[in-house]
Amino acid sequence: MRIAIAGGGLGGLTLARILRRHGIDAVVYEREASRSARPQGGMLDLHPESGQKALAEAGLAGRFRSEARPEGEEHRILDPAGRILVHHEPEPGSFSGRPEIDRSVLRDLLLDSLPRDAVAWQHRLVAATPRPDGGFGLTFDGGRSADCDVLIGADGARSVVRSLLTDATLFCVATLVELSISDVDRRHPRLAELVGPGNLWCIGVSQILAAQRLGDGSIRVGISLPADERDLDSYRSKRALLDMFDGWDPGLTALIEAGDSTPTPRRIEAMPTGTRWTHQPGITLIGDAAHLMPPVGEGANQAMLDAAELAAELAANPADPDSAIRTYEEAMFTRIHPIAEMSARVQAMMLSPTAADDIVRFFTPRPAEPATAD
Ligand SMILES: Cc1cc2nc3c(=O)[nH]c(=O)nc-3n(C[C@H](O)[C@H](O)[C@H](O)COP(=O)(O)OP(=O)(O)OC[C@H]3O[C@@H](n4cnc5c(N)ncnc54)[C@H](O)[C@@H]3O)c2cc1C
Repeated sequence: MRIAIAGGGLGGLTLARILRRHGIDAVVYEREASRSARPQGGMLDLHPESGQKALAEAGLAGRFRSEARPEGEEHRILDPAGRILVHHEPEPGSFSGRPEIDRSVLRDLLLDSLPRDAVAWQHRLVAATPRPDGGFGLTFDGGRSADCDVLIGADGARSVVRSLLTDATLFCVATLVELSISDVDRRHPRLAELVGPGNLWCIGVSQILAAQRLGDGSIRVGISLPADERDLDSYRSKRALLDMFDGWDPGLTALIEAGDSTPTPRRIEAMPTGTRWTHQPGITLIGDAAHLMPPVGEGANQAMLDAAELAAELAANPADPDSAIRTYEEAMFTRIHPIAEMSARVQAMMLSPTAADDIVRFFTPRPAEPATAD
């Protein structure tokens, strides 16, 4: 059985690794030129029941523990005047919750667990064509081609493979503008102090100024705004961004001023919740390709769990991959639906005019209900 995985992100690499542990080879076709071709972004918190579970299946739980940053779970929520609304500090040295790990470290950890030839770099899939005898012919940018018996689309938000299974269209849920500040302890100690070892969210009316500390001593700043029709170029100026945060405490907007380079804006998209497709032989999707959700902390975790569950089904039923894929798909659709709905609700809450109150309520444990006698 020749398995092709389109996309070497967290989902695709986790899948390749777990399959290999079961003695099943797969080739990962990745469009990027190398592992260091592009910065991988900020931190992720891996949940015990999904991302961490998948890493355990991959035999990488120990390496994860040595690379993760439990202290990164600390988070602070402030209002635009800089007043602290919520400050959560994990138990020192605790590894029980959802420890954070830099995305690049996690991807390296997965790549290092695979033989060099498991990933075909610089292979951007442009078309997959069903073959009359089963399987798919794959065409890559630049004219190269390959064949496979099973094709797994792990090719992210703008998946090429997705269109073979569903015509679900993406819609925009927010605009995100990102900046990076390097070497903060030395160059911007006040900002290092403000952000702390984990995440900071400053919540305004339909706008959030967020920052997170990475393991390399940098801070990643993210500005979330409602989706709109504006030209993205209008977000590329720090001056324009500072104007949007007029009236905010200058200690907070210093996060924008300190950005090392031009702000990078992008649209954040999602698929309709409840998206599913009719099973087709020899093909399926995992991760964002299958269920792109607003980024509120589940996407990577679910992509990795998809990988673990699909690998387990294929390993349990190697003679009948279609039955394995069908079982995976049904379980994945059922698991993802409520998570996608929750993600959409949280995303809407974060950019609502009452976001600060709603988020404080979300993070504040409710007092126990008084016991009532029957
Ligand atoms: C700002 C932001 C913050 C987030 N924070 C979190 C978080 O805290 N926790 C969390 O769980 N999730 C988070 N997410 C979501 C998470 O990033 C994604 O859900 C996750 O990366 C999905 O993994 P994936 O492997 O499916 O896709 P990706 O990680 O996108 O990987 C897809 C891979 O496929 C490759 N590729 C794409 N097209 C092709 C092609 N045609 N041919 C070959 N290769 C291709 C890409 O180069 C990439 O390497 C966040 C997302 C954003 C945008």
